[in-house]
Amino acid sequence: MFDITKIRDEFPILTRTVNGKPLIYFDNGATTQKPKQVIDAITNYYTNQNSNIHRGVHTLSREITIAYEEARKTIQKHLHAKFSHEIIFTKGTTDSINLVAHCFGKINIESGDEIIITQMEHHSNIVPWQLLCEEKKAILKFIPINQEGELLLDELPKLITSKTKLVAFTHISNTLGTINPVKEIIHIIRNLSHAAILVDGAQAVPHLQPDVQDLDCDFYVFSGHKLYGPTGVGILYGKEEWLNKFPPYQSGGGIIKTVTLQKTEFADLPLKLEAGTPHIEGGIGLAEAINYVTNIGFEQIQKKEHELLQYLTKKLLGIDGVTIYGTSKNKTTVVSFNVGDIHPFDIGTLLDKYGIAVRSGHHCTQPLWEFYHVPGTIRASLSFYNTIEEIDYFLDALNKSIRLLS
Ligand code: PLP
Repeated sequence: MFDITKIRDEFPILTRTVNGKPLIYFDNGATTQKPKQVIDAITNYYTNQNSNIHRGVHTLSREITIAYEEARKTIQKHLHAKFSHEIIFTKGTTDSINLVAHCFGKINIESGDEIIITQMEHHSNIVPWQLLCEEKKAILKFIPINQEGELLLDELPKLITSKTKLVAFTHISNTLGTINPVKEIIHIIRNLSHAAILVDGAQAVPHLQPDVQDLDCDFYVFSGHKLYGPTGVGILYGKEEWLNKFPPYQSGGGIIKTVTLQKTEFADLPLKLEAGTPHIEGGIGLAEAINYVTNIGFEQIQKKEHELLQYLTKKLLGIDGVTIYGTSKNKTTVVSFNVGDIHPFDIGTLLDKYGIAVRSGHHCTQPLWEFYHVPGTIRASLSFYNTIEEIDYFLDALNKSIRLLS
């Protein structure tokens, strides 16, 4: 049973007030709140376990090395990766994509090669590829979208050529909420080319459990903080055959077998790609966050979130002047909208006075807004811990804000 009172009790921040009103947190696309279980794991690390990993023979170091490697195994199991060394700890989605752009680019991209992304990508899945293409004189192509905010997959085969080396696309759009048909997209690519495939799972992992072997992607990336875990930690899943070929991303301690003054022999995976002391409590906290959502169950999460999405969408469309961007049938609890020509910042600022956190602006998807010919939107992104009562309060505050601004 999904017990919303119990669940909300597990998120301490949800009891605070903002501007004298109970906090209503509808900015989960930016980052999710943390359950006590995750906060406790981090506190416990600093209270009882703090030590550096992989380097000590003393008890604390051995204990924390085991805990950190257990965290890696929890993430491996969650993603259904074949090996735990296919799980690389990074700083987050952006860092994971930069790692692939750097390492893959170094060994596999030459002048005239092609990389395909989509028109709905977050800047983090655009800019690293632009820089790589500039450096290597490669070509960047885009899968376009339709008015509903869905990828035009009929265009994909036309974009793929013998020069296509990599296709990178988001699992769920952070701005439109569209859930892309990842398996179908990968099937099309695999049938037509040997291109490597990177899936940006930043917005997907809070809503569903990806199976990287079933998807058959080469890389899957996400951030801990969007999955109810800590900031500053993220994951790069990569197929062993790719990661083994990668040169080190950064160099220094922690990634070596032996160093002489002339030469370095590098460690095996995963350490080869994890230079320096990592975000130890981040990895442990992320595994705890995965345990937390797994315990609730993604079926329950999806059921609750679907109910919230339906309700919010229906009620919003009942307000005069509201336009929702992203109307795919297959979407998650991300609702981007504008009200007439009122500026999103004005609405966002007024909603804050009511204790409501939404995001206003371009949401790091400026090329997407070029398509819709608007500079940005208000984005309400909900989690399973939000409620229908919160939506009602939000709609009331929104109506009052609109009246004030019109
Ligand atoms: N990709 C998508 C789809 C996102 O939504 C985000 C963040 O909003 C990112 C990448 C970048 O994530 P991070 O800032 O955690 O690296």
